[in-house]
Amino acid sequence: MIASNAELSCLALATGQGDEGVCLLVQIGVYRILLDCGLRDISNLLELEIDGVWCSHAHRHHSQGLEALHTALPQLPLYSSSATAILLGLDSLIILPWQNSLGERSPLGTELYPGLYARIFPAGHLPGAAAILFTYQGSDRSYTLLYTGDFFISNTRLTEGLSLNDLRGSRPDVLIVEGSYGTTRYAHRRQQENALVQQVNALLIEHNTIYWLVPELGQAQEILLLLRGQMAGQRLEIWVDKHIADLCDRFIQCLPELPNNIQNFARDRSLFWDDRGWPRVNHWPPTPASGIFLITDLTAIAQLPSLATALLLVPPQDLESSTKLGLRTQSYFLSEHSDGAGTAQLIHNIRPQHVLFVHGSPTYLADLTGLEELHSRYQLHLPSVGNLVELPIGDTFLHAPPPTESTYEGELAAGSQLIHISLPATVADDPRWQHFADTGLVEARWQGEELILRGVSARQLLSYPEKIAEDLRCCGNCRYLRGQRCLSEESPLRGFKVTATGVCRSFISNLL
Ligand SMILES: [Zn+2]
Ligand SMILES: [Zn+2]
Repeated sequence: MIASNAELSCLALATGQGDEGVCLLVQIGVYRILLDCGLRDISNLLELEIDGVWCSHAHRHHSQGLEALHTALPQLPLYSSSATAILLGLDSLIILPWQNSLGERSPLGTELYPGLYARIFPAGHLPGAAAILFTYQGSDRSYTLLYTGDFFISNTRLTEGLSLNDLRGSRPDVLIVEGSYGTTRYAHRRQQENALVQQVNALLIEHNTIYWLVPELGQAQEILLLLRGQMAGQRLEIWVDKHIADLCDRFIQCLPELPNNIQNFARDRSLFWDDRGWPRVNHWPPTPASGIFLITDLTAIAQLPSLATALLLVPPQDLESSTKLGLRTQSYFLSEHSDGAGTAQLIHNIRPQHVLFVHGSPTYLADLTGLEELHSRYQLHLPSVGNLVELPIGDTFLHAPPPTESTYEGELAAGSQLIHISLPATVADDPRWQHFADTGLVEARWQGEELILRGVSARQLLSYPEKIAEDLRCCGNCRYLRGQRCLSEESPLRGFKVTATGVCRSFISNLL
């Protein structure tokens, strides 16, 4: 139960850490709104006083409790964007219009309850995903709260990114923002896509079958569009499991909400399926064949042709559990959220008084609150489940003491063969150290003027370099291959036309 005199407060029921979804109860003026319902068990919600529920997007972590909540409390209004309602297949949802379709008459947005207004903005990440700005008009002043849900500033094949322009200068009193990737920085979206296609092409040289485990909603469809676009003309069969196929059909239903180029593409052909051109994209069940099998469940592999040369491709978080299957396994990466730079950029653009970080591992979120550029300007909070965060609004902004220092000063000692870097032992106090120092090996790479250190994990040591040694050590994956010719100074093949599967001693992988 929220027991607070403040006009604005937030009680986290789940913050999207680990397997938990997101579910936050916020007080805005006299109203209590539930932001997302990612709880598996909704029984705790039934004792709370709630005026309405907002569902930011259709991912399970944000929506899985909605149906049960509606059954238990059919009178409780549940709000979402139109595409979210389609993707979820729930007709109990009340659709809020996008902010740019609102007339001048209601600059504050839709009036949900007397004095409480809401405007929604596309948040990138997944079609239908929306950030919501609440405005409560109190007797003395108005109060504003912006909740991003999951968001992504970059465009993807299925979404246009969250527009900073639309939100610039909105200066909400409170911003509740996801910090899934902490302060990590990622390569530009296009580079990630190119690297992924390159990885898949390299794998296809040695493996005629790839079982590819993908998140069923959003990323699966995006990968289909990516393969169709970047591998056009390539003789390749792609098989798509039933869960993905069903959701592809739902995406077609929200075609008007997809980017213009996708709508144009889909005008004279099927968006996801192709039974004539290459690559072919086929429905389940697969006929005995090779190619790429997009799956959402590892148990599906048991029913698939088990070929000795098959490879399993999984998201990094599934690598550990998948290696138990005994198949050769590799991970792939395609980001789904804004990275640390994007999160900071959003905050600086809208300049809220309070910032609450949710969604992501506690250490990643703590990295964000540790950023000097943020904690010197905004009041930062890391809500934990069951603890009420009061969000008093005022002109006096008392700077909280800076959070525990998260940078470490060290020393360099350069020898002729080796360079030693010494760091204080307190670096090992962070829970991430164990994973980092797993094997005692590190990898260093330049990023601008900075040298980034990364721990090499045992599983990486077991899977990836071995693969380079065994499977991928061929001209097709070599940095020196240009237009089918070898350009290596050292290679006896220099200047010759080589086959992709050829190999020589001066091989250097283009994958690392
Ligand atoms: Zn999501
Ligand atoms: Zn999420």
